[in-house]
Amino acid sequence: MECPRCASGEIRTIKTNGTEAGRVTRQRGCLVCRRTWFTVELPVSVAVIGWTRKTGKSVPVLRVPVDQAVGKEAV
Ligand SMILES: [Zn+2]
Repeated sequence: MECPRCASGEIRTIKTNGTEAGRVTRQRGCLVCRRTWFTVELPVSVAVIGWTRKTGKSVPVLRVPVDQAVGKEAV
């Protein structure tokens, strides 16, 4: 993840909320420009997950744009 303002990778999680309605909400903060923002964790169907070995080890990746991977359409 990168900072939406300065694109720095120096991100930390400030706060993680409990699962509200099955969603995990996190407050993120940039250590470079001090911007804070929120992210929501969403479950995705196994059908949209592919695997890549670019870095030498198997890493899961989305095979479709994220807006198609979440929500009812993906189930
Ligand atoms: Zn930043």
